[in-house]
Amino acid sequence: GRRSRAGYKLAELDRRDRLLRPGMVVVDLGAAPGGWSEYAAGRVAPGGRVVAVDRLPMAPIAGVDFVQGDFTEAAVAETVRARLGGPADLVLSDMAPSLSGVRDRDRALAEALALAAIDFAEGVLRPGGDLLVKVFEGPELAALRARLGAAFAAVATRKPPASRARSSELYLLARHYSHV
Ligand code: SAM
Repeated sequence: GRRSRAGYKLAELDRRDRLLRPGMVVVDLGAAPGGWSEYAAGRVAPGGRVVAVDRLPMAPIAGVDFVQGDFTEAAVAETVRARLGGPADLVLSDMAPSLSGVRDRDRALAEALALAAIDFAEGVLRPGGDLLVKVFEGPELAALRARLGAAFAAVATRKPPASRARSSELYLLARHYSHV
């Protein structure tokens, strides 16, 4: 179904980069309808868990603790952090704005979501933890990469095959967080 098709992208990235292991604590930002959450919950079992958030509702998934709300609201981000109850090993963000068609506005919204994911990751990741965040091609990309380069040992760009070639979405994979 739709859920598993969405999950292919994460499965492809995981096969290439070995992102997920049993026992990990994972945050999934922009999780609905749940493809990534479902895939991640399967890979972190046994012993791991996934805390997921979306402003849209999501049907329950075993091993996934779901928070419904707008992640850019401080109270929602704080609820996600409280559900974690401690540091995270991996933060995933597939958040994307609903497109208005006004290109500059859409780019600014997408950049704000990526920055919100990065801020959050820098607050909850354990030292050595990783972040995978969806971004869009454009003039903002260099600054986002530079920001990640300051706090993570390595930053790579990924375009999984399941991501349609025409779409301008990319993922930045930032590995080995170190507090700065
Ligand atoms: N990774 C998901 C999957 O595998 O099913 C698909 C995610 S979809 C591409 C992007 C999601 O980001 C949408 O469900 C949207 O509601 C969510 N989103 C966008 N802005 C958000 C925000 N401010 N707070 C929470 N979720 C948001």
